[in-house]
Amino acid sequence: MKRTFIKIIILFLFTATDVSLMSAPGKAQNYQYSLDGKVISSEAYEAITKGQRFLHANNNAEAIMMLKKACELAPDIPDVHNNLGIALAKSGQPDAAIQEFETARSLNPNLDAAWMSLAGMYQSTGQIDKAIETYKTFLTRFPKHRDSTKIASLVQGLEKEQARQKSVSSSDPDLNRSSEAEDYFREVTRDGIMRWSKERMPLKVFISSGDGVPGYMPEYRELLRQSFTDWSKVSDGLVTFTFIDKPEQADITCSWSNDPTRFKNIAEAGETFLYSNKTGLVKGTIALLTVPLVPDLPLTRNRLRSICIHEVGHVLGLAGHSSTPQDAMFHTMSMADLWKDLTQRDANTIRRLYSAETTNTSH
Ligand SMILES: [Zn+2]
Repeated sequence: MKRTFIKIIILFLFTATDVSLMSAPGKAQNYQYSLDGKVISSEAYEAITKGQRFLHANNNAEAIMMLKKACELAPDIPDVHNNLGIALAKSGQPDAAIQEFETARSLNPNLDAAWMSLAGMYQSTGQIDKAIETYKTFLTRFPKHRDSTKIASLVQGLEKEQARQKSVSSSDPDLNRSSEAEDYFREVTRDGIMRWSKERMPLKVFISSGDGVPGYMPEYRELLRQSFTDWSKVSDGLVTFTFIDKPEQADITCSWSNDPTRFKNIAEAGETFLYSNKTGLVKGTIALLTVPLVPDLPLTRNRLRSICIHEVGHVLGLAGHSSTPQDAMFHTMSMADLWKDLTQRDANTIRRLYSAETTNTSH
C-alpha cells in the first residue's frame, strides 16, 4: 500500500514578549547625582544602581526590594519605575508590574521601553486587544525604533490570534468563559483534529545533541525529555514515548539552534512542524532556540521548560493556541521566570484529544 505524505501543514506562532531597560544612570557631578536632568540623593543613586545590577543578574526579589526603595527616595524617575515593573513581571506579579509601567509612561511619554513593557505585559497576560493597541501606538510614536520590525511582526501574529479567538468564540458562546472551562480542546483544534494513532505508540523520540550550539546547556536535554514524560503522565498513558538514538527511526525529532532568523516568525522561541496522512500524524519536528530572543529575559530553566511543554504539546497535535495564560498552549511566553507544571486543563485537553470518541477531521 502506498502512503502519501502531506507536507508541512501548520505554522506555529509563539510570540515572545519584549522589554528593554534604561541606559546607564547619570554620572557623579560635583558630588551630586543627576539622572534624567533631576538631582537625586546619593542614597537614591545607590539604590538605583544596585537594583539594576540585581535585575541584570536575574535576582528579581532583591531587585524589587532595592528599586522600591529607589522609587521612595526618587519617585519621579520614569526608568526606575520601568525597571521595577520588569522585576515585578519576572517574579510573576503582573498587576503590580502594569502599574509601574503606567507610572513610567505618564512620567515620560517618550520612554519607548515603558510602552514596550506595557504592551508585552498585556500580551503575556492574555489582554490581546490592549496589547495590539499599545504596540500600534508604539509604532506610531517611535517609527524608527530599532525594534520596530520585530514589533510589527508581533502585531501581525497577535492580530491573527485575535481573529482566531473571535471566530472560535462566535461559533461557540461557551468559550467566552474559556478560562473557567474544563479544557481548551476547541481552541487548539480549531483548524481540525490531528493526532497520532494508537498503533504508533510509544512514539519514538530522537533528541539531537546540542553540543557546539552556542547557548546550549547539557541540562536542556533533560528538561525536554521531562516535558515529554510529563505530557505522557497527564494523558493517563494515552500518549507514550520512547527515546531513541537513531534519527532515521524517529517519529519526532528535536533539534537546537542559536539562530532566530532561521525560524519562520522572528518572534518565536521554538518551532514545530507536523506531517500527516489519512491515518493521522506521521512525523513531527521540533526546533528550539538556545539563546534568549530578548536580552533582558534570559533563557532560564523555567523559561526553557515553558517553551518545551508548549512545543511538545504542538507535536502531539494541540496545533492551535489557548487564550488563557496558565495553559501550556497559551500563545505567548510568560514574562515570569517561574516553573510551569501542566495543569488540570492541560491534562483534560490532551485526554480529550486522545479519547476514543474523538476522530481525525484534518485533511
Ligand atoms: Zn505555539
